[in-house]
Amino acid sequence: MQHLIDRFIRYVKIDTQSDPESDTTPSTKKQWDLAHKLVLDLMEIGMQEVTIDDHAYIMATLPANTDEDIPVIGFISHFDTTPDYSGTNINPRIIEDYDGRDIVLDRKSDMILSPDYFDDLLMYKGQTLITTDGTTLLGADDKAGITEIIEAMSYLIQHPEIKHGKIRVAFTPDEEIGRGAHKFDVEKFGAEWAYTMDGSQVGELEYENFNAAGLKVTFTGKSVHPGYAKDKMVNAVLMANKFLSLLPQNEVPEKTEGREGFFHIYKVDAQVESACMEGIIRDHDKDGFEARKGLIHQIAGDFNRKYGSEVVKVEIKDQYFNMREKVEPVMHIVDIAEQAMRELDIEPIIKPIRGGTDGSQLSYMGLPCPNIFAGGHNFHGPYEYVPVESMQKAVEVIVKICELTAKRK
Ligand SMILES: [Zn+2]
Repeated sequence: MQHLIDRFIRYVKIDTQSDPESDTTPSTKKQWDLAHKLVLDLMEIGMQEVTIDDHAYIMATLPANTDEDIPVIGFISHFDTTPDYSGTNINPRIIEDYDGRDIVLDRKSDMILSPDYFDDLLMYKGQTLITTDGTTLLGADDKAGITEIIEAMSYLIQHPEIKHGKIRVAFTPDEEIGRGAHKFDVEKFGAEWAYTMDGSQVGELEYENFNAAGLKVTFTGKSVHPGYAKDKMVNAVLMANKFLSLLPQNEVPEKTEGREGFFHIYKVDAQVESACMEGIIRDHDKDGFEARKGLIHQIAGDFNRKYGSEVVKVEIKDQYFNMREKVEPVMHIVDIAEQAMRELDIEPIIKPIRGGTDGSQLSYMGLPCPNIFAGGHNFHGPYEYVPVESMQKAVEVIVKICELTAKRK
């Protein structure tokens, strides 16, 4: 397991934070540092057709080791880390034989990783944890996924007795800013289906995510001296408030779970003259999603009839869609992953994602792509950690999926 740990630590130490303000791909130059290294590492373990394009998308092939007609499958992870928290000077700490007690990440700032707050920790008693030093994130999201894919490919190369078809591997930039799939060349990848290794706890297997849209509503008011405003003033502050009050009060992030959708208004800027409201719409169900968009338009229409046309303007932009629609017709790709886990004594945890993944975008680009655990917890902040045993399990799942795909044909 030591080479898995070493590889992971080598990767997380390279800062690859992405930047939503940038228009380039990759969004930050520093992502090239790890990208170039990954190309060399893929060659070093014996992968073929290792390529990197102008946007730092890396692809590689593990050729089939049998003449049988087996579908080409792929594994994908991203090498950027979130802009939400520092990824500079990451100094991972290794805690062997974890005893189930508080882990002091940084004494100076009193950063403590405690099972009182993060009770998931208790699942990993006796295991080896990799944590941060309290000053950065760890980057297990998604360098755990990258490490696992490379280790699994290396294992297959060293164990030719395990028969498999052609396997494709891809590493992408800029997933954390929602662009990981944007410049992904599905045709060049050439797989019938793939898996992103980008989930959390051991057993996670996901093929449902939100349908998602961004929302902007603008209100145009009329400012008049308040003393002489009767029948003249139109107050955009009050219009925005009224609009908000007409949205279903229980369909908000803090009151929903599972497959329940919501409206989330995260910003309101309001003056008498004008107001602007920004938010997001989320729903797993396609009809529910359309109904939510319909409700926004309907309320806006009512306002415009009441106050005069064009007082309220609505902009709704679709962001991504539930991959379930694209995965259900090819359900065997989920079955294979599930079977792989069961054969390794891992209980599959199948639940809808309350977010999106690169896999959902790829699924709509013609590459059905469920998501599998990579092992880490508490992503995007200083409490991020990953048990080494979970990463090892993910390696085994990848190997097993390759094996089972060859057996099913
Ligand atoms: Zn990720």
